[in-house]
Amino acid sequence: MPPAANPGLKILVMNAGSSSQKSALYALPSDAFPAKPLEPLWEGAIDWTHQEGVAELKFTTQDGKKIKQTMPSGDRTAVMNCLLESIWSGETQVIDKATDIGMVGHRVVHGGGQYQESVRVTPEVQAAIADYSRFAPLHNPANLEGITAIEAILGDIPQVAVFDTAFHSTLPPAATVYPIPYPCYEAGIRRYGFHGTSHRYCAQRAAELLGNPSPLRLIVCHLGNGASLSAVRDGVCIDTTMGFTPLEGLMMGTRSGSIDPGILIHLMRQEKFDADRLDRMLNKESGLLGVSGVSSDLRVVMEAIAEGNDQAKLALEVYLHRLRSHIGSLLPSLGGLEAIVFTAGIGENAPDIRAAACKGLEFLGLEIDPEKNVRSPEDIDIATDHSPVRALAIHTQEDWMIVRDCWHLR
Ligand code: ADP
Repeated sequence: MPPAANPGLKILVMNAGSSSQKSALYALPSDAFPAKPLEPLWEGAIDWTHQEGVAELKFTTQDGKKIKQTMPSGDRTAVMNCLLESIWSGETQVIDKATDIGMVGHRVVHGGGQYQESVRVTPEVQAAIADYSRFAPLHNPANLEGITAIEAILGDIPQVAVFDTAFHSTLPPAATVYPIPYPCYEAGIRRYGFHGTSHRYCAQRAAELLGNPSPLRLIVCHLGNGASLSAVRDGVCIDTTMGFTPLEGLMMGTRSGSIDPGILIHLMRQEKFDADRLDRMLNKESGLLGVSGVSSDLRVVMEAIAEGNDQAKLALEVYLHRLRSHIGSLLPSLGGLEAIVFTAGIGENAPDIRAAACKGLEFLGLEIDPEKNVRSPEDIDIATDHSPVRALAIHTQEDWMIVRDCWHLR
């Protein structure tokens, strides 16, 4: 087995979704935090749902070893054990023993309004994550499962919770409260915002790339399967498009984004839709998939358009119309714009979408350089030299942000 590559702090990042668990181990030097994101020593993933009753595990190491295996998914503790043990035993072993891991950072989807930044995990924090499961029933329990698995296997190791909602905790009341009866707000029905770790990383990276100007007013467009925008003034988030749940705002891969709530009432009354049916329709059957009838994957939708599929073309038109309108809705709160930032699967890889989104901002003088836009290496300014508003494509690094938060809380 290879010797431990680095004597510094080893940080394990755990990112549990509703259907997957992604993990990565980073080896940090002991003296200073690295200026640039490091590659993980080891990465592991569990897909819980691809095959019924079967968990699919994948491990890869920095030096190129790859293993895939399957296990019955019923005994989740055994599956988590297998994932973690592959770090210190077997072919993908990268450290001597489990206790070489110094800290564990967890991406936690919902921290309510309570957590404005990342915190060390304590029994109180675990109780709060469990409490917020009522708002994020698919995600928070999976996050807690990761925390308890680490406790069971690694014992009393420092663990950090990094909340997706935290970056949006600075939203002013006007952007937080829904215009429905106030007791709803008191019961926790308010706008929280999500993808906060990605928005925070991109806002910081944009400031760095632009030389930390002041003021710095940004619109960050996180465009993946899930999609959201944030309006960030001098590093502080002042508005975002997702709300009480990740269903609000932009049209997404399979999620509708914002629609007239009257449609829900209509479907309940006329079509006898219940909560589960509505949930399925709005979260899984809408968005690019729902309108195009082809796919939730933008690449497949674009292929269909190239083959002359009019419904796919319409889906893209709706997607872009909504993207531009939501970008526009953030401008008055910012009072100006120094840069627009594109990130995640679509934001990083689809020059046509970036160009189309910026088209509506030409009145601000924003001009995209078509050549830079298609070249798009990581973290590039794609605006023309004379454009007064910059446009950046940034590779989001949520795991690295979690590593950074762990470092600060070590
Ligand atoms: P998730 O929200 O699941 O993390 P991603 O950030 O990976 O999603 O984004 C997935 C989306 O990115 C899909 O719609 C996919 O089509 C799109 N995407 C990835 N690569 C490209 C590409 N080269 N061109 C256009 N779209 C792309």
